[in-house]
Amino acid sequence: MDSTVRNYLDQYGVSDATRRFLDKSQKMFIGGAWVESSNGATFDIFEPSTGGLITHGPSGTTDDLDRAVAAARQQFDGGEWRRLKPLERERMLHRLADLIETHADELAEIEAIDMGKSVTFAREIDIQGTIDTFRYFAGWPTKLHGRTVEPSIPGNYLAYTRKEPLGVVAAIVPWNFPLQTMAWKVAAALAVGCTVVVKPAELTSLSTLRFAELVQEAGIPDGVVNIVTGKGSVIGAAMSTHPGINKVTFTGSTPVGQEVGRAAVGNLKHVTLELGGKSPVLVLDDADLASAARAVANGVFFNSGQVCDAGTRVYIQRSVHDAFLDELIAVTRTLQMAPGLDRDCYIGPMVSAQQKKAVAGYIELGLREGAKLVHGGGSPEGPGHFIEPAIFAHCKPDMRIVREEIFGPVLVTSPFDTLEEAVSLANDTPFGLATAIYSNDLARVHTLIPQLHAGSVYVNAHSTIDPSMPFGGFKDSGLGKDLGPEQLDYLMETKAVWITLP
Ligand code: NAP
Ligand code: MG
Repeated sequence: MDSTVRNYLDQYGVSDATRRFLDKSQKMFIGGAWVESSNGATFDIFEPSTGGLITHGPSGTTDDLDRAVAAARQQFDGGEWRRLKPLERERMLHRLADLIETHADELAEIEAIDMGKSVTFAREIDIQGTIDTFRYFAGWPTKLHGRTVEPSIPGNYLAYTRKEPLGVVAAIVPWNFPLQTMAWKVAAALAVGCTVVVKPAELTSLSTLRFAELVQEAGIPDGVVNIVTGKGSVIGAAMSTHPGINKVTFTGSTPVGQEVGRAAVGNLKHVTLELGGKSPVLVLDDADLASAARAVANGVFFNSGQVCDAGTRVYIQRSVHDAFLDELIAVTRTLQMAPGLDRDCYIGPMVSAQQKKAVAGYIELGLREGAKLVHGGGSPEGPGHFIEPAIFAHCKPDMRIVREEIFGPVLVTSPFDTLEEAVSLANDTPFGLATAIYSNDLARVHTLIPQLHAGSVYVNAHSTIDPSMPFGGFKDSGLGKDLGPEQLDYLMETKAVWITLP
């Protein structure tokens, strides 16, 4: 750890538990053992609020992946996990959730230090969401069942279906909600009896490595959960074609997701893809403007805009356009920019220097394209990769800042007149992750909902996420669902059984 990071941890009184974890040499978790990369390679792990170096992580090889898949395979094919009585599997998943809860403050610090996000939100959203996800799926093992049917064909049969776990699941995870996204994929897979190999993002591997220690402490059998850190282009790409893997579940950008999907289908793996977005927000003229402005600002600037379903395109009905924009700017001014460990941080840094450069590039592009910057958009000098929230007004549908996912605190707005126009603007995108509507006119809201091409529709809210509700995009935003009972269907085979009766 360099002195910049050490001073930062001192300044904010980071716990001894977190320091002990960050000071130790990081290893991958394969078949219940803690191992270095087979070729000894490592990568640097940076802290985004200071830009300083925290530690190194093992840069896994395809040999390491082979070993992890073999461990997961062996556990799935011959081990105890899928054969545990359902109540026993439930008990183990609850034990893991209890341990995550016991160490929640430490995990929130690790997430804030590695990713740069607000430690307050890390605790309330990321870590709480992780606990809730494990608890929700812990309740499922006793509730998985097939159907018994009465066939109409001639003859006398007992016909029924069985739900069986798919096998070894590979999870490829992005850096914006590292632990929580991992939990979405792992909790459901473990609940149905699958075993997993996880590849966290290189930018944010630390919380997943700490999680693996808790998996071990919970007594979950060796090989059920395996963590291989390293490059997506090496480990992630090899996962997509690996013959020992039955399913790949990927969350990340649309171009990489398409590559993963193509490779996985080439060897007939099951695949779930949770991809990018450019989610529209419709503010109707009857909306409560003050509360809508707070929700819209939160819906785009939360996690410094590094949110897949962020409401980044805001369409405002013309008669309230100017008043709403004023409210929105006023709310945005109150969002405090600070280092992630500052308990009052709302806008933290971008995850990396590269991400800051990409977002700043889009703000310059917006200006060149002729959009009107009505708030923020500055890039403060270091330390840390900070960008001020930016609001562009009077944007045109063909501008690149309107069409492309920026993945930073950048909002584009424009007015609309009729609801037909609003629907057509909202749907004018290759993405389909989410849409929000602000209105208290139930008839108009219910008329709009079926016309919007999006996996989630939020009314008078944004990004309300709960493990009991499915999450996943339409169109270029993905395939399949995470969370809710829907996710279980993407992790199990259905076997049709026919028994001839006398
Ligand atoms: P990304 O570049 O697509 O990376 C996602 C993961 O894929 C990382 O673990 C990455 O590893 C790995 N990867 C990179 N190249 C790969 C390859 N050729 N084959 C297999 N895996 C590969 O996305 P990101 O920049 O980390 O995350 C931001 C994106 O994720 C945004 O587009 C956002 O909208 C999307 N996202 C979607 C959801 C959702 O639920 N729909 C949620 C969160 C984020 P390394 O980076 O470590 O090399
Ligand atoms: Mg980091």
